[in-house]
Formats: sequence, structure tokens, C-alpha cells
Amino acid sequence: MGPTLRSMFEQTVAKYPEKEALVDSRIGQRWTYYQWNLEVNKLANALSANGIKKGDKVSTLLFNTAEFATTLFACMKIGAIFNPINFRLSAKEVEFIVKDAKPKLLIFEKATAERVKPLAKEASFIQYWSIDEHDLDYAVNYYDQIDQVSNKRPDCDLDEDDIYSIMYTSGTTGSPKGVIHTHRDMMDQALIMTASMRLTKKDIGLSVAPMFHCAELHCAFLPRVLIGGTTVILHHFEADKVIETVREEQVTTFFAAPTMWNMMLQEDFTKEDFQTLRQGLYGGAPMAPALTTRLHEAIGIQLLQAYGMTEMGPAITVLSEDEQLEKAGSAGRPLMNHEVRVVRTREGWPSEPDDTCQQGELGEIIVRGPSMMPGYYNRPEASQEALFKGWYHTGDIGTFDQDGYLWVRDRLKDMIISGGENIYSREVEDTLFDHPGVLDVAVVGEPDETWGEKVTAYIVKKDENLNEQILDEFCKSEERLARYKRPRHYKFVNELPRNASGKLQKFKLREKATHILE
Ligand code: ATP
Ligand code: MG
Repeated sequence: MGPTLRSMFEQTVAKYPEKEALVDSRIGQRWTYYQWNLEVNKLANALSANGIKKGDKVSTLLFNTAEFATTLFACMKIGAIFNPINFRLSAKEVEFIVKDAKPKLLIFEKATAERVKPLAKEASFIQYWSIDEHDLDYAVNYYDQIDQVSNKRPDCDLDEDDIYSIMYTSGTTGSPKGVIHTHRDMMDQALIMTASMRLTKKDIGLSVAPMFHCAELHCAFLPRVLIGGTTVILHHFEADKVIETVREEQVTTFFAAPTMWNMMLQEDFTKEDFQTLRQGLYGGAPMAPALTTRLHEAIGIQLLQAYGMTEMGPAITVLSEDEQLEKAGSAGRPLMNHEVRVVRTREGWPSEPDDTCQQGELGEIIVRGPSMMPGYYNRPEASQEALFKGWYHTGDIGTFDQDGYLWVRDRLKDMIISGGENIYSREVEDTLFDHPGVLDVAVVGEPDETWGEKVTAYIVKKDENLNEQILDEFCKSEERLARYKRPRHYKFVNELPRNASGKLQKFKLREKATHILE
């Protein structure tokens, strides 16, 4: 029996019992590590009392809440497998995941209840607990379940190779896939992130990006708990609320998706509001260099970027604050003990790991490291393909520069092929984002009889006067974009389809275009 996330958590509790561990702004409550651990034990014992054993799955359909955090650690205490579900998914999408993961229990809240209701009718093999007081015939109240339960530490034989979680990928390119991670994977990821972010027990972090997603959960929340820091939880993202909380709770570090940083930038604030912040993190999706510059000017610090994917725990490379000026736009360099290669993409994926690209040559990014998933849940074929010859094939296109920095250009599936030329949608997006009148942008290839695909830009305006001619002139001027990369079409929209972690759902834009064509 080696160390596990459970033993790491308990060591932190033993070392810092009086330190503030959690603050939940929704219910206005605060817990020290000692107090929180008792809550965790209580829930763990309640889970056992309801027949949940080691290896069983517990799903959550919760926004950012203390109960989410407590469930995560309660599962560890009894060896149950934690399965957080994206709170923005539709009822159908939730059903897909639940039928795939087959949990014994689903914990939800008022805000997600509508999507649980149809499921409860059909999937009666699951128990349903709601963290809110409301009368439901298909669910019981979470607090009633833990009310009379002992807060003693439960016994459990746990090993580092035991499964800790099944987290579903964002479903940006297809159906979400359940990614398995063991205690060992996540201990590695937590230690590496602690070092990369120079986290200490003095840090006060804000969990505002969705905690169900591995970027927030494993790059920010989990390492912060294991080092003995404090976490302030915000139920969901509201730009003004984030700024207010940073100021009032003296937050020192937090992670937000690029689109959240962009929204914060539209608020009225001064550098003073961010005075205590020593670190801002982003990842999960690319951020245009123009935005990193604007943020630096507005809040007074450079941001740290992480690049990765659920399958890798997620982080595999980091661009630290001091590298941001010189290498803005790059994803940085591999984390300690992580290997990253760029290989020639082949017809018929996956690419051969030995077929290494030259410096500057674009290819598929493949990676390997200690926090790599052992495989997808219930998907042996997809696992074999994704982990071909021991390397995780990311499906992202990138290149290394002469200094060893990785540049992620696009997803293979988002690359546009127009008139036989490869066009990386991200390059066109970054260029358009440089225009001050652009608030948000997505570039996709839309079907075209002559060119195969034509470059189409969806734009959310910041400046009402912005139009197609202005943007086309902008792309032409100063040789910003070669002719074949320039959008043939501009579509002005009020918002872009993004999922809860801020990722552009380009398939939705493409689908729309195909329907119009038909
Ligand atoms: P699915 O695999 O279901 O299609 P997904 O790939 O979006 O969904 P995640 O694991 O949440 O699911 O996201 C990983 C992907 O997000 C990466 O493969 C990459 O394309 C993108 N990504 C993550 N971090 C960054 C970053 N810093 N810069 C650019 N892209 C990023
Ligand atoms: Mg993916």
C-alpha cells in the first residue's frame, strides 16, 4: 500500500488543522481543515451506509459548491470513483454519460434538477441526492443523509493504482469519452502543478472555473488543497463577482478560461482590485496574444498558461509568467518528467511516434508522462488508438521552435483545407482578435464547391461600426494574413457557442452552415 490522494489529504489536515480550507460564498460558510475533514468523513460514512463501496461510482451534477469538494474527498476516503459531470450539459447529454458510467449515486442541486428529473424516471438503479431543500419524489436530501452519521475516519484498503476518477472529455470533437485516472496519476499531476505554480500554504485561491473540468480541478483546486492553501468557491462565473471576491478575500491565485478573462476585461476595475493577486492562470483553450497583452496592462501581472487535455491529467506544458512577453502565443515547455513530440501526421491516424518533425515543421503533438490515463472507460478500441505505442495522440497540431517552446496551431479537426492549402483557424482568429473592435471570434471552414472549404469568420462586435470591409482591410494591411487565409465571409453574431469550460464548439457553427447550404 503506497501513498494515495487520501493519505496526502489526511496529512494536510493533520499538519494544518486550524488553517482555513474552504469558503463557500453561496452559503456564506467557512471551514478549517479540521472541520472540513469531519464533513468529509461524515459524507464518506453516509455513502457507505447507503451501500456505496470501493470501486462504485458517484456522479455529481453540481456547480462549484462546497458539497462538490466534499464529495470528491469523501469518495477518496472509501475508494469510490468520483465522476463529476458538466453542469451545462443537456438532459440527453447527461443521460449519455450516466448510462456509460453507471454510477450508484448522483448528487445534484436545484439549478440542475430539471435535467435529473427525466433521468430519474428511467435510471432507477441510481440513488439521487439533492443538496438543496426541495420536495422531490425521486430524490432525498443530502443533508438528511449525513445528519446523524458518525464523523469518524472510515477504514479502506486503498492503493495508488486504484481508480480515483472518471472524468469525461469536453466533447468538443465528438461524444465525450470517460477518462480513467488513478491515485498515482493525480498525485503526480498535483505535485508537478504545485511546483510549477510555486504554490504554498499561504495561497488563497479562487475556484470559479468549473470544478467538474480537470483544468480547474487538477491544475488549481487539488494541488492547493494538498499543500494546505485556502479555496474560495464561487458557484458560477460572473465577471464582476470575480473581481469583487479577489479584492475582498485577498485572493493570490486563480485559474480562468481565456473567455472568462476576456469578460473580466470588459468590467470597470483598477489594478488596486487585483493587488493581492500574484498569479493568474489560463488554459483549456488558446488565448490570443493581443488579449494577454491587454490583460497585463489592465491587471498588472502576466498570466501563466497550461496546455493539456483530460487524458493527461491535464497539464503537459506550461508557459510561465516570465516567458509570456517573449513567447506570447506559445504553450510553453514540457512539465518536469513529461515528454512531448511533434510527429508527421499520417493518412489514417494514429501517427507513428518515431516519425519526428523537424524544428518549425507542423505535425501532430504526441505526449507521454506520469499522469497519462491508463485508458478510456468502456472503450478499449479508442484507448488503443489514442495510446498508440505508449504515446497519447492529442489530435492537436503544433511545432517546436528553436528554443524548445511548443506552439499549438490548431486541432487537426479544426484545420481548414481551402484550395489545397492548410489554414490554421487559430492563426486567423488571433489576427482578427488584434482588431480593437472585435470582442470574440471563431474561424471555421465552411463547405464550398470551388475551394472545398472557405474560411468563414464569426465575429462578436465590441464596436458597433465594425463591418466586413474594415476587417478585410485590417487583414490585408501590414501583411497580416496571406490572401488564401483571409476570411471569404464574415458573420456578425451576438455570441459564440462555447461550452462551460469556455471552449468554442465549432461543430455547431459548421452544422449551421451545412444546413443553410442544404
Ligand atoms: P473531446 O476530446 O471530447 O473532443 P476536448 O478535447 O475539448 O474534447 P479537453 O480534454 O477538455 O476535451 O480539452 C483538451 C483540448 O483542449 C486539447 O487537445 C487542445 O485542443 C485544447 N487546449 C487545452 N489547453 C490549451 C491551450 N493552452 N492552448 C490551446 N489549446 C488548448
Ligand atoms: Mg480531446
